[in-house]
Amino acid sequence: MSLIVQKYGGTSVGSVERIKQVAERVAKFKMLGHQVVVVLSAMSGETNRLIKLAHDVQSQPDARELDVLVSTGEQVTIALLAMALKDLGLKAKSYTGAQVRILTDSSYTKARILNIDEQHLRSDLQAGNVIVVAGFQGVDEHGNITTLGRGGSDTTGVALAAALKADECQIYTDVDGVYTTDPRIVPEARRLKTITFEEMLEMASLGSKVLQIRSVEFAGKYKVKLRVLSSFQEEGEGTLITFEEDDNMEQAIISGIAFNRDEAKITVLGVPDTPGVAYQILGPVADANIDVDMIIQNVGANNTTDFTFTVHRNDYVRTLQMLRDLQAKIGAREVTGDDKIAKVSIVGVGMRSHVGIASSMFKTLAEESINIQMISTSEIKISVVIDEKYLELAVRVLHKAFGLEKAA
Ligand code: ADP
Ligand code: ASP
Ligand code: MG
Repeated sequence: MSLIVQKYGGTSVGSVERIKQVAERVAKFKMLGHQVVVVLSAMSGETNRLIKLAHDVQSQPDARELDVLVSTGEQVTIALLAMALKDLGLKAKSYTGAQVRILTDSSYTKARILNIDEQHLRSDLQAGNVIVVAGFQGVDEHGNITTLGRGGSDTTGVALAAALKADECQIYTDVDGVYTTDPRIVPEARRLKTITFEEMLEMASLGSKVLQIRSVEFAGKYKVKLRVLSSFQEEGEGTLITFEEDDNMEQAIISGIAFNRDEAKITVLGVPDTPGVAYQILGPVADANIDVDMIIQNVGANNTTDFTFTVHRNDYVRTLQMLRDLQAKIGAREVTGDDKIAKVSIVGVGMRSHVGIASSMFKTLAEESINIQMISTSEIKISVVIDEKYLELAVRVLHKAFGLEKAA
């Protein structure tokens, strides 16, 4: 007998029929003698609908109340699934995040899980219940409802699997695994049987929304056996996230291509080329709790230099305004920005042992006359910032150039 945590995303619980199908899948695992904990998202579109409602009422919704509101989406699906399971003759109990006591910090809309009270879940499981837990939500030490950031049900699933020392955490979604890139953009994308934890972490952090980055971090920290599968197929092995590089694995140089449309670029032109300038520019940005991603400083000429960095698009206007206010103090000539950019990244542990990957990437983009605005690299990834309008083209040509398509 195994303990399995199954997480189902929005499309997988998008209608009453879909919820009944989830109940049947859960029942199958129960019949095989497994203990099952289910984590659910809200019905697809519901979280967006609730966020829009909040904006209709308050232009900058209060973060605490926003979490009270958006957490309701998951409360609906867990209750419905518990009913569907009971209808099949199973014992089931639904719990909100606060009822389980998924303890988080108090950062509304992006809270982090600190602890999970798993003892009473264990007794429920031992009594033969299927436990159905609301994803994406927790409670802080003062009893306030919190949410874990968009896509956060993945993290609830993996965190519960870690707390319960589950044998496997299965993430059921609308694709049958992790692909070489988003199959919605490149229909020739190929499912990976396995992907290393490090690669998955890069893919998630660089924009592949198939798994929320924090869920991958949890899986790494607690060595949770994590698999991505389709809830629309009866059978299928999906994609397993592995912790060791195995010689027998498909050892491509590049495993996948990720992209992100959520960033914006700020450039501070003509700043004095003196010690302390980077701090003068980025210190206030950090103090305002704004995350900076890529950073480039040009080689100085005539004692001045240009400084460019990217932030989340939601922070673009605020950051631009802040630096314009600081322009005179920094001694900069001009502050400009562009929020029509996209970041495309190639990821693969095989890069460690191969040279010339960056130049192949740049050549491929040059052949399509796609201008590269910024570059950043690590041991297993190369990212470029380009004009947003070339994003899909860039992903497609890179996918082809690195031989990632399905075999014909
Ligand atoms: P869920 O609601 O089940 O959590 P998501 O929409 O969050 O589903 O994640 C699944 C989606 O992730 C897929 O429909 C796909 O478009 C997108 N996606 C992006 N990159 C990848 C990738 N490399 N492999 C598979 N899916 C990807
Ligand atoms: N319902 C939440 C969202 O749409 C959480 C999730 O689906 O993982 O972001
Ligand atoms: Mg998701």
